[in-house]
Amino acid sequence: MKCRKCGGKAVINMPQHHLGLCKDDYLAWLPEQTGRFIEKYAMFGREEKVLVAVSGGKDSLALWEILHRLGYQADGLYLCLGIDGGIAYSSESQRLTEQFAAARGLQLHIVNVEAETGRTIPELARLSLRGRSKPCSVCGLVKRHEMNRVARDLGYNVLATGHNLDDEAAVLFGNTLTWSREYLLRQGPVLPAIPGLARKVKPLCRFYEREMAAYALLRGIEYIYEECPHALGSTSTYYKEVLNRMEHERPGVKLRFYLAFLDAHKSGLFARQEDVQPSLNPCPGCGQPTSAPGLCSFCRLKEKVRSSGEAGL
Ligand code: SF4
Ligand SMILES: [Zn+2]
Ligand SMILES: [Zn+2]
Repeated sequence: MKCRKCGGKAVINMPQHHLGLCKDDYLAWLPEQTGRFIEKYAMFGREEKVLVAVSGGKDSLALWEILHRLGYQADGLYLCLGIDGGIAYSSESQRLTEQFAAARGLQLHIVNVEAETGRTIPELARLSLRGRSKPCSVCGLVKRHEMNRVARDLGYNVLATGHNLDDEAAVLFGNTLTWSREYLLRQGPVLPAIPGLARKVKPLCRFYEREMAAYALLRGIEYIYEECPHALGSTSTYYKEVLNRMEHERPGVKLRFYLAFLDAHKSGLFARQEDVQPSLNPCPGCGQPTSAPGLCSFCRLKEKVRSSGEAGL
């Protein structure tokens, strides 16, 4: 296959765009497209400080690299979850993230969950879920809370995550299967700021996972190949596999599914935000907005750690 731009040898074929590109043109095309999406969805401006949540994986490191390349003010935030075990997942992903930032002279903030809560993610999950399920719900709760806290404390207007199209399509698929109106309403490239919470943006939401992997590889970004050990067998991994099978038969189906959803969302198919937005109050423990009548879920989790009597909080 030939590169559409220069006629050289294409290294990537994107059937959904009927587009093949060579290495140099692909490395120019992907950041260019990202810049277009940032503007199209009004994600942020050049005067705004962006905090990029980086995990050491290909998507978040590539996102940080692209924002930096496009001239945005983007700093990184790495959350050390304390998930190690067999593959030393957290230590290795932290090492690669630090190496990435140091090589490019970028500012990286590191938050250690164990130092903040008295427990690592697997320990918090054991304490709160008593082994009933995977740690992902606790992990998600802690990550959201800590990202919001750091953004607020350090004055970042915008929180950017590296979710790609495969991630977004899998979440959308799950929310559609259950018609979770509240989640469907909140899904999209931009979640506007509300008092106490920064705007959240997903600049890579229209790129396939394989496109992000190709970008990271061709750009020479060293990232952690292994997924978190708890991702194995998760519902979202299952949805991704189902969607991949569909994509194999019908190239472009994931992108069409996601874009048609965004159009439907824009045309008001689901509901107006005010109809389902729960009323939020500041948590008396940490000040972040919560729909709970008292402490937010994160502060309740910390209470559990405290009352378990073993943590040095
Ligand atoms: S797979 Fe689950 S435990 Fe692992 S990082 Fe993701 S949310 Fe956290
Ligand atoms: Zn070319
Ligand atoms: Zn709280």
